[in-house]
Amino acid sequence: MADSNKNSYKRIFSMLKEHNKWFENSIPLIASENVPSPAVKEALLSDFGNRYAEGWPGERVYAGCIYIDKVEFECMKLAKALFRAEFADVRPISGVVANLAVYCGFTNPGDVMLAPSIPAGGHISHGKKEHSGTAGLVHGLDIEFYPFDAEEMAIDVDKTKGKIEELKNANKLPKMAMFGGSLFLFPHPVKELADFLKSYNIHINYDAAHVAGLIAGGQFQDPLREGADTMTMSTHKTLFGPQGGLVLGFEKHAEVIKKATFPGLTSSHHIHHMAAKAITFVEALEFGKDYAKQVIKNAKALAEALSAFGFKVLGEKRGFTKSHQIAVNVLDYSDGGKVEVDLEKANIIVNRQLIPGDIKAGRNYYHPGGIRLGVSELTRLGMREAEMRDVAEFIKQVVIEKRDPKKLAPKIKFFRKDFQKVQYCFDKKLGAYEYVKLR
Ligand SMILES: *Cc1c(COP(=O)(O)O)cnc(C)c1O
Repeated sequence: MADSNKNSYKRIFSMLKEHNKWFENSIPLIASENVPSPAVKEALLSDFGNRYAEGWPGERVYAGCIYIDKVEFECMKLAKALFRAEFADVRPISGVVANLAVYCGFTNPGDVMLAPSIPAGGHISHGKKEHSGTAGLVHGLDIEFYPFDAEEMAIDVDKTKGKIEELKNANKLPKMAMFGGSLFLFPHPVKELADFLKSYNIHINYDAAHVAGLIAGGQFQDPLREGADTMTMSTHKTLFGPQGGLVLGFEKHAEVIKKATFPGLTSSHHIHHMAAKAITFVEALEFGKDYAKQVIKNAKALAEALSAFGFKVLGEKRGFTKSHQIAVNVLDYSDGGKVEVDLEKANIIVNRQLIPGDIKAGRNYYHPGGIRLGVSELTRLGMREAEMRDVAEFIKQVVIEKRDPKKLAPKIKFFRKDFQKVQYCFDKKLGAYEYVKLR
């Protein structure tokens, strides 16, 4: 091998190992992330990852799918059991693709969709064309935002009804109402709005990307019972699986969703990820309730501890959070961007977050007013309320006391010592961040 190629080859593997080592000794608090079990990783390494299985199991476009079909039927059965859904399409390769499947299935370009704005918790895949949001840019939807009450951190139900009436009078009646989001502290008012939306024939989709694991564990809200027509999600946030997507719904919508997913939006649906989703659904059926309960307790404990230190934790009026997340206004100290960088130096990994009021005050995504913290990963590693108080203490030392983050790193490494394996799963042989060498 030529020298420069050999160096690249070595360098890539060394970066991969360094990354794993770093996460072994860090406090990962990105709300959209989690660690999968060794069983999920094993499925990801299987030969399924080298195959094509276009189409629906039993009706594939290719041969060689005997075992893939069996796993995919099992995967759909498990997804339906976990979320008590009539129909599941397990093929979308991500949460964004799952959302695109419902946009394509139930709306046309030019239609209006009601969605949360980004500072109110919305995701860029629900966004406007001028922000390069998926809904606007890729499917040509015209996005209108829900009226939002920042004090309550909630969609305003009465004002939403008023807005829909106004839109109707302006000949812009929405075709779809999107619930769910990325900054997601409290359940959304699906049951409060479902009858009203249905009276106007507005399709209700619930984007459970963040809270899927909490819904699976029965600890958040139950959108399909509250009036949602379809539910989309990522499979790797609070639902602790491989990166991937999922669409759930009722039998009457099955054909439309199937066609949107294939041939509309996927060719290969990353079959190894499909198998890994099946494993995740089994784990969630077995351990999901205990996990979700602990996640929510941990988020509350972290919020309360930070608030006691003087941090402005959002949603105080409603007890800070009912999910895996908390959001903190850090403008008393600097801004979300600066705090993110300082915490990373101490190996505390968080992300900056636009919060209500930021856009009006002229702040942007690079230097927003807040940070968002999620406890899904720490909980999966076995941490409980006592550890959340330690995490709050570390954050206080960096952000409020401005201590040298480099000096904190060894303490954090020690803190992590007893939390190196994934819990809430069947097999715990491999460490959560253990590097697997096959060469
Ligand atoms: C993360 C997220 C998505 C995107 O999911 P990917 O799996 O990353 O494509 C979609 N919607 C919401 C609300 C999200 O938070």
